[in-house]
Amino acid sequence: MTSRAEEIAQNLAAVQTRIRRACEAAGRNPVSVRLLAVSKTYPPEDVTACADAGQLLFGENRVQEAIAKMPLCPGRLQWHLIGHLQSNKAAHAVESFDYIHSVDSLALLQRLDRLAVERGRRPTVLLEVNVSGEKSKSGMPPDQLAATLAAVPGLQALTVAGLMTVPPIAADPEEARPYFRELRRLRDDAQAATDLALPELSMGMTHDFEVAIAEGATFVRIGTAIFGPRPPMVPRLES
Ligand SMILES: *Cc1c(COP(=O)(O)O)cnc(C)c1O
Repeated sequence: MTSRAEEIAQNLAAVQTRIRRACEAAGRNPVSVRLLAVSKTYPPEDVTACADAGQLLFGENRVQEAIAKMPLCPGRLQWHLIGHLQSNKAAHAVESFDYIHSVDSLALLQRLDRLAVERGRRPTVLLEVNVSGEKSKSGMPPDQLAATLAAVPGLQALTVAGLMTVPPIAADPEEARPYFRELRRLRDDAQAATDLALPELSMGMTHDFEVAIAEGATFVRIGTAIFGPRPPMVPRLES
Protein backbone atom coordinates (compact mmCIF):
# COMPACT_ATOMS: atom_id res chain seq x y z
CA MET A 1 0.00 0.00 0.00
CA THR A 2 1.28 3.40 -0.95
CA SER A 3 -0.10 6.43 0.84
CA ARG A 4 -1.15 9.49 -1.11
CA ALA A 5 1.83 11.42 0.33
CA GLU A 6 4.26 8.69 -0.79
CA GLU A 7 2.68 8.60 -4.22
CA ILE A 8 3.13 12.37 -4.62
CA ALA A 9 6.74 12.20 -3.36
CA GLN A 10 7.55 9.41 -5.83
CA ASN A 11 5.90 11.24 -8.72
CA LEU A 12 7.78 14.42 -7.83
CA ALA A 13 11.11 12.55 -7.75
CA ALA A 14 10.36 10.98 -11.15
CA VAL A 15 9.56 14.41 -12.64
CA GLN A 16 12.76 15.88 -11.17
CA THR A 17 14.75 13.05 -12.75
CA ARG A 18 13.11 13.65 -16.14
CA ILE A 19 13.88 17.37 -15.90
CA ARG A 20 17.52 16.61 -15.07
CA ARG A 21 17.80 14.22 -18.01
CA ALA A 22 16.18 16.69 -20.39
CA CYS A 23 18.66 19.33 -19.24
CA GLU A 24 21.60 16.96 -19.77
CA ALA A 25 20.33 16.08 -23.25
CA ALA A 26 20.05 19.80 -24.08
CA GLY A 27 23.43 20.68 -22.56
CA ARG A 28 21.74 22.89 -19.98
CA ASN A 29 22.44 23.38 -16.29
CA PRO A 30 19.53 21.82 -14.34
CA VAL A 31 19.34 24.87 -12.04
CA SER A 32 18.29 26.91 -15.09
CA VAL A 33 14.90 25.12 -15.13
CA ARG A 34 12.48 25.63 -12.26
CA LEU A 35 9.58 23.29 -11.62
CA LEU A 36 6.13 24.69 -10.83
CA ALA A 37 3.91 22.04 -9.28
CA VAL A 38 0.44 22.81 -10.64
CA SER A 39 -1.94 22.04 -7.78
CA LYS A 40 -5.23 23.26 -9.30
CA THR A 41 -8.22 21.07 -8.30
CA TYR A 42 -6.06 19.30 -5.68
CA PRO A 43 -6.52 19.84 -1.93
CA PRO A 44 -4.10 21.55 0.48
CA GLU A 45 -3.12 18.15 1.91
CA ASP A 46 -1.63 17.25 -1.48
CA VAL A 47 0.24 20.55 -1.64
CA THR A 48 1.60 19.91 1.85
CA ALA A 49 2.73 16.40 0.89
CA CYS A 50 4.51 17.82 -2.16
CA ALA A 51 6.10 20.59 -0.06
CA ASP A 52 7.26 18.01 2.51
CA ALA A 53 8.99 16.23 -0.39
CA GLY A 54 10.94 19.43 -1.11
CA GLN A 55 8.82 21.33 -3.66
CA LEU A 56 8.43 25.06 -2.94
CA LEU A 57 6.93 26.58 -6.12
CA PHE A 58 3.25 25.99 -6.83
CA GLY A 59 1.03 27.06 -9.72
CA GLU A 60 -2.71 27.67 -9.62
CA ASN A 61 -4.95 28.76 -12.47
CA ARG A 62 -7.92 30.24 -10.57
CA VAL A 63 -7.55 33.12 -8.15
CA GLN A 64 -10.54 32.15 -6.00
CA GLU A 65 -9.52 28.51 -5.59
CA ALA A 66 -5.93 29.49 -4.81
CA ILE A 67 -6.86 32.07 -2.17
CA ALA A 68 -9.00 29.51 -0.36
CA LYS A 69 -6.18 26.95 -0.46
CA MET A 70 -3.13 29.04 0.43
CA PRO A 71 -3.84 29.58 4.17
CA LEU A 72 -4.17 25.79 4.57
CA CYS A 73 -0.72 25.16 3.04
CA PRO A 74 2.77 25.64 4.49
CA GLY A 75 3.70 29.34 4.73
CA ARG A 76 7.09 29.03 3.02
CA LEU A 77 5.70 28.32 -0.46
CA GLN A 78 5.93 30.60 -3.50
CA TRP A 79 2.67 30.90 -5.48
CA HIS A 80 2.42 31.47 -9.22
CA LEU A 81 -0.80 32.36 -11.05
CA ILE A 82 -0.81 30.59 -14.43
CA GLY A 83 -4.46 30.89 -15.54
CA HIS A 84 -6.35 33.65 -17.31
CA LEU A 85 -6.82 36.66 -15.01
CA GLN A 86 -10.06 38.65 -15.18
CA SER A 87 -9.55 42.30 -14.37
CA ASN A 88 -12.02 42.16 -11.46
CA LYS A 89 -9.75 39.60 -9.76
CA ALA A 90 -6.54 41.55 -10.38
CA ALA A 91 -6.42 43.05 -6.88
CA HIS A 92 -6.69 39.62 -5.25
CA ALA A 93 -4.04 38.28 -7.60
CA VAL A 94 -1.61 41.06 -6.66
CA GLU A 95 -2.24 40.44 -2.95
CA SER A 96 -1.70 36.70 -3.05
CA PHE A 97 0.70 35.70 -5.82
CA ASP A 98 4.46 36.16 -6.08
CA TYR A 99 4.41 35.59 -9.85
CA ILE A 100 1.69 36.12 -12.46
CA HIS A 101 2.47 34.21 -15.68
CA SER A 102 -0.75 35.13 -17.50
CA VAL A 103 -0.60 38.86 -18.22
CA ASP A 104 -2.26 38.99 -21.63
CA SER A 105 -2.76 42.70 -22.36
CA LEU A 106 -1.20 46.12 -21.88
CA ALA A 107 -4.32 47.22 -19.98
CA LEU A 108 -3.96 44.33 -17.51
CA LEU A 109 -0.24 45.02 -17.07
CA GLN A 110 -0.89 48.66 -16.20
CA ARG A 111 -3.79 47.79 -13.92
CA LEU A 112 -1.67 45.26 -12.02
CA ASP A 113 1.08 47.85 -11.61
CA ARG A 114 -1.35 50.43 -10.16
CA LEU A 115 -2.81 47.84 -7.78
CA ALA A 116 0.65 46.67 -6.72
CA VAL A 117 1.74 50.24 -5.95
CA GLU A 118 -1.42 50.83 -3.86
CA ARG A 119 -0.85 47.64 -1.91
CA GLY A 120 2.91 47.84 -1.51
CA ARG A 121 3.39 44.60 -3.43
CA ARG A 122 6.15 43.83 -5.96
CA PRO A 123 5.10 40.76 -7.98
CA THR A 124 7.06 39.43 -10.93
CA VAL A 125 5.03 38.96 -14.10
CA LEU A 126 5.37 37.23 -17.45
CA LEU A 127 3.55 38.20 -20.63
CA GLU A 128 1.42 35.41 -22.03
CA VAL A 129 1.58 35.16 -25.81
CA ASN A 130 -0.90 33.28 -27.98
CA VAL A 131 1.72 31.98 -30.40
CA SER A 132 -0.63 29.62 -32.26
CA GLY A 133 -3.38 32.19 -32.80
CA GLU A 134 -6.06 29.69 -31.73
CA LYS A 135 -9.22 31.59 -30.79
CA SER A 136 -9.83 29.42 -27.71
CA LYS A 137 -6.42 30.29 -26.21
CA SER A 138 -5.68 33.20 -23.92
CA GLY A 139 -2.58 35.31 -24.40
CA MET A 140 -1.87 38.41 -26.45
CA PRO A 141 -1.23 38.16 -30.18
CA PRO A 142 2.51 38.33 -30.91
CA ASP A 143 2.04 41.67 -32.69
CA GLN A 144 0.96 43.32 -29.41
CA LEU A 145 4.15 42.36 -27.63
CA ALA A 146 6.23 45.35 -28.73
CA ALA A 147 3.63 47.91 -27.60
CA THR A 148 3.23 46.13 -24.27
CA LEU A 149 6.98 45.98 -23.67
CA ALA A 150 7.24 49.68 -24.49
CA ALA A 151 5.27 50.35 -21.27
CA VAL A 152 7.65 48.34 -19.06
CA PRO A 153 10.15 51.13 -18.28
CA GLY A 154 7.22 53.17 -16.87
CA LEU A 155 6.09 50.50 -14.41
CA GLN A 156 6.64 51.26 -10.74
CA ALA A 157 6.05 47.98 -8.92
CA LEU A 158 6.04 45.07 -11.36
CA THR A 159 9.08 43.27 -12.72
CA VAL A 160 8.45 41.87 -16.20
CA ALA A 161 10.73 38.84 -16.37
CA GLY A 162 9.82 37.09 -19.62
CA LEU A 163 7.18 35.31 -21.68
CA MET A 164 4.74 32.43 -21.24
CA THR A 165 2.76 30.30 -23.69
CA VAL A 166 0.40 27.32 -23.92
CA PRO A 167 0.66 25.49 -27.27
CA PRO A 168 -2.31 23.77 -28.95
CA ILE A 169 -3.25 20.37 -27.56
CA ALA A 170 -1.65 17.65 -29.71
CA ALA A 171 -1.14 13.90 -29.45
CA ASP A 172 2.60 14.12 -30.16
CA PRO A 173 4.66 16.43 -27.91
CA GLU A 174 6.90 17.16 -30.92
CA GLU A 175 4.01 19.17 -32.36
CA ALA A 176 4.50 21.71 -29.57
CA ARG A 177 8.15 22.35 -30.52
CA PRO A 178 7.52 25.07 -33.16
CA TYR A 179 5.43 27.06 -30.65
CA PHE A 180 8.09 26.82 -27.94
CA ARG A 181 10.77 27.79 -30.46
CA GLU A 182 8.68 30.74 -31.61
CA LEU A 183 8.20 32.00 -28.03
CA ARG A 184 11.94 31.93 -27.56
CA ARG A 185 12.47 33.77 -30.84
CA LEU A 186 9.94 36.44 -29.79
CA ARG A 187 11.83 36.80 -26.51
CA ASP A 188 15.22 37.03 -28.24
CA ASP A 189 13.88 39.64 -30.69
CA ALA A 190 12.30 41.64 -27.85
CA GLN A 191 15.56 41.66 -25.92
CA ALA A 192 17.49 42.74 -29.00
CA ALA A 193 15.00 45.55 -29.73
CA THR A 194 14.87 46.93 -26.15
CA ASP A 195 17.11 47.31 -23.11
CA LEU A 196 14.94 44.83 -21.18
CA ALA A 197 16.22 41.61 -19.63
CA LEU A 198 13.62 38.87 -20.23
CA PRO A 199 15.31 35.73 -18.88
CA GLU A 200 12.21 33.65 -18.19
CA LEU A 201 10.36 31.37 -20.62
CA SER A 202 7.37 29.65 -18.97
CA MET A 203 6.48 26.75 -21.25
CA GLY A 204 5.99 22.99 -21.06
CA MET A 205 3.44 20.88 -19.16
CA THR A 206 3.20 17.17 -18.26
CA HIS A 207 2.77 16.14 -21.87
CA ASP A 208 5.57 18.16 -23.47
CA PHE A 209 7.99 19.57 -20.87
CA GLU A 210 11.05 17.74 -22.21
CA VAL A 211 10.56 19.38 -25.60
CA ALA A 212 10.08 22.75 -23.87
CA ILE A 213 13.35 22.30 -21.95
CA ALA A 214 15.15 21.50 -25.21
CA GLU A 215 13.76 24.80 -26.57
CA GLY A 216 14.84 26.91 -23.59
CA ALA A 217 12.10 26.74 -20.92
CA THR A 218 13.09 28.20 -17.54
CA PHE A 219 9.75 27.40 -15.84
CA VAL A 220 7.92 24.14 -16.54
CA ARG A 221 4.35 23.92 -15.21
CA ILE A 222 3.53 20.34 -14.25
CA GLY A 223 0.33 19.06 -12.65
CA THR A 224 -0.78 15.63 -13.84
CA ALA A 225 2.64 13.94 -13.62
CA ILE A 226 2.88 14.94 -9.93
CA PHE A 227 -0.68 14.80 -8.61
CA GLY A 228 -2.38 12.47 -11.10
CA PRO A 229 -5.14 13.08 -13.65
CA ARG A 230 -7.67 15.78 -12.76
CA PRO A 231 -11.40 15.13 -12.95
CA PRO A 232 -12.89 16.74 -16.06
CA MET A 233 -14.09 20.29 -15.48
CA VAL A 234 -17.76 20.41 -14.60
CA PRO A 235 -19.62 23.52 -15.69
CA ARG A 236 -20.98 25.45 -12.71
CA LEU A 237 -24.76 25.30 -12.39
CA GLU A 238 -26.71 28.51 -11.99
CA SER A 239 -28.26 28.65 -8.55
C1 LIG B 1 -3.26 22.94 -15.75
C2 LIG B 1 -2.15 23.75 -16.33
C3 LIG B 1 -0.85 23.22 -16.40
C4 LIG B 1 -0.47 21.82 -15.94
O1 LIG B 1 -1.00 20.87 -16.81
P1 LIG B 1 -0.60 19.31 -16.72
O2 LIG B 1 -0.89 18.82 -18.09
O3 LIG B 1 -1.50 18.71 -15.69
O4 LIG B 1 0.81 19.22 -16.35
C5 LIG B 1 0.14 24.04 -16.94
N1 LIG B 1 -0.13 25.29 -17.40
C6 LIG B 1 -1.38 25.82 -17.34
C7 LIG B 1 -1.59 27.19 -17.86
C8 LIG B 1 -2.43 25.07 -16.81
O5 LIG B 1 -3.65 25.60 -16.76
